[in-house]
Amino acid sequence: MIGGGYVGLVSGTCFAEFGTDVAIVETNPDRLTALREGRIPIYEPGLDRLVAENVEAGRLTFGDDMAAAVKGADAVFVAVGTPSRRGDGQADTSYVYAAVEQIARAADAYTVIVTKSTVPVGTGREIARIVRETRPDLEFDIASNPEFLREGNAIQDFMRPDRVVIGTDQYKPGGTERAQTILRKLYRPLYLLETPIVFTGLETAELIKYSANSFLAMKITFINEISDLCEKVGANVNDVARSIGLDGRIGKKFLHPSPGFGGSCFPKDTRALTAIGRNAGSPVRLIETTVAVNDQRMKDMGERIIAFANGDVHGLTIGVLGLTFKPETDDMREAASIPVLDMLDRAGAHIRAFDPAGMTTARPVLPQSVTYCTDALDAARDADILVVLTEWNEFRSLAPEKLAREMKGRKIVDLRNIWDPKTIKEAGFEYISLGRPDAV
Ligand code: NAD
Repeated sequence: MIGGGYVGLVSGTCFAEFGTDVAIVETNPDRLTALREGRIPIYEPGLDRLVAENVEAGRLTFGDDMAAAVKGADAVFVAVGTPSRRGDGQADTSYVYAAVEQIARAADAYTVIVTKSTVPVGTGREIARIVRETRPDLEFDIASNPEFLREGNAIQDFMRPDRVVIGTDQYKPGGTERAQTILRKLYRPLYLLETPIVFTGLETAELIKYSANSFLAMKITFINEISDLCEKVGANVNDVARSIGLDGRIGKKFLHPSPGFGGSCFPKDTRALTAIGRNAGSPVRLIETTVAVNDQRMKDMGERIIAFANGDVHGLTIGVLGLTFKPETDDMREAASIPVLDMLDRAGAHIRAFDPAGMTTARPVLPQSVTYCTDALDAARDADILVVLTEWNEFRSLAPEKLAREMKGRKIVDLRNIWDPKTIKEAGFEYISLGRPDAV
């Protein structure tokens, strides 16, 4: 497994749990030291125990020696990052190609090179070209096995996925049965649970991952726009979302109004799909609009807070609950808190913030002047306004009277609709949330 980040570490550990011998190769020295010392460099519930058990059982190892890991491997997975390229939004595949070249040099016999990273359509074929050029003598196959796990629920998602997608080269003379057999064997425990396994071509598998993430991002953006419309026409977005979600064709999930989607995948994958579409001469206009609407939404949220403070937050103290892009993760990549706090900071507010897992990851990406607090009540202390940015469960049960005792002002902006407007209002607060004008 090349790359020991979210995807590499979780999938490598879960494959080991299935009974496979796994060697994870990680080039970042700090990450590698942590892993070797049994410290998990990411926040993922249950992962520390699973890693420890599989290391103990001798099925899971960590190192930086690519050659040692690749030698004798039936399959080599590439799980390195594919961030957005500056400027054009295309996925940066340079880490993938660099890893593939190293794999090709290190391989000593037939192997399947599998991309687990999310990569643009055509990457698999380019990988095959690189391997052939680097090692004309090597027998190999290429496969695409996109990963659908969600941070915060990653182990469960890997062990009980809705489906597994395995793409192999549909045009390879002689076929790729050998590769399919190896991958089928790896995922055998899931076969036993009757998980649908979709065997398809390389390009199809690559496009499936972008289509899935872009669809979900579009669904989030849809309900956000409906939420804004609810505010204008006096409707309640929670009731709209619940009622449309009960239609099996629509489904309940991803219909919660929010300050916009963030994280390590949706923003970069939607941008990448629009680039793929444009380059192929078949623009995906719904997703182009989704990207634009979402970018604007994060800015609108900052303005909404300022407007609630009668247009001026200069010199005010703003308490912030939640910083990560969603609960149960420490991931701050493209979190809504970044543009929102930036705007408040530039407008002269003093920010007191708390997040249950993201305090360390937040520091480098948030304004320097932010004060980091020990808990939610500490963040509320002396605040003129309190803002909810991430819906961590522990915030839901905060008693409004306790918040009132800590705060100087009486204004709450709930950008995740975690509280019941009636209860908050009865405690003496002025309260705004998303798409619930009838509830305030
Ligand atoms: P990450 O940045 O957390 O991890 C990537 C790791 O690879 C880093 O630790 C880096 O040091 C290491 N690395 C880079 N080049 C290397 C090399 N040549 N040899 C060894 N190690 C190397 O990224 P991630 O979140 O795990 O995402 C990886 C891929 O999986 C991306 O394409 C992403 O889009 C995709 N993905 C991510 C998620 C998610 O929830 N994070 C879910 C599904 C798919």
